Amino acid sequence: MEEICEICPRHCKVNRWKNVGFCNEFNKIRISKIIDHFKWEEPCLNDEKGVCAIFFSGCNLKCDYCQNYEISCGQVGKEYSAEEFANLLREKEKDNSYFDFITPTHFSNEILSAFKIYRPKIPVIWNSSSYEEVEILKKLDEFVDIYLLDLKYADNFVGRKYSNCHDYFDKASKVLDFCAQKKDVFKDNLLRQGLIIRHLVLPNEIDNSLKVIDYIAKNFPDRIVSVMSQFTPTPKSSIKRKLTPLEYKIVQKRALNKLTKGYFQDFDSAEDSFIPKFLEEN
Ligand code: SF4
Repeated sequence: MEEICEICPRHCKVNRWKNVGFCNEFNKIRISKIIDHFKWEEPCLNDEKGVCAIFFSGCNLKCDYCQNYEISCGQVGKEYSAEEFANLLREKEKDNSYFDFITPTHFSNEILSAFKIYRPKIPVIWNSSSYEEVEILKKLDEFVDIYLLDLKYADNFVGRKYSNCHDYFDKASKVLDFCAQKKDVFKDNLLRQGLIIRHLVLPNEIDNSLKVIDYIAKNFPDRIVSVMSQFTPTPKSSIKRKLTPLEYKIVQKRALNKLTKGYFQDFDSAEDSFIPKFLEEN
């Protein structure tokens, strides 16, 4: 079957049965890592069983500071047909409370085919960069329970600097508008449906973080926001240092003034071997 890939805003127009585009992946789901009982997501997603974290190989954004660059750039992992992936979901849902699809965007069509074979009985978290097409998300929406979405940059210029794309904010803001239609539903203090907006604070880019906070406060004032401090320079990143306590404090102060719900990641999370901790402010 001929197919020209326009799944994400890169619009590579390659036939992914034969070639790869910017995401570096063919048309078959590839997974680099699966972790059961993963307990490193936000507190409202953590219960005794934890989440089944599925790390998809490849990435359609490839930020130069990516903490998972071996997965996002390396063409590593095991391939699954839609049927095999549906079977994996059937098997894993017994032991976990959520599915956490990490960087799934470039496999959207194949994941949709798997959902049509088997619809999971536990909530599905769509954990992405927000560099996506709303038209594709509309098709997935009936199967996704929770959007866990980054808002990395508040203007396109910063996206061009670090993520090699000219339209990050244009696309991500539309994606957030669409996904915010999913209202938050809690059961036993756990989020079972809804939206969490994540923002990783970058060293030297505090103005960007303040703009992100202001944008969220203006447009999504009652949503859960997760502010993260975990940035650690990698050999490939153009930013060569960690965040300073003062930089993080400035962003935290703005968030506390303007936002209503959410989490701050513990500053000490910026370790080489990242073990995130979250401090609940509200
Ligand atoms: S999913 Fe991959 S190949 Fe398709 S448009 Fe996006 S980056 Fe290009």
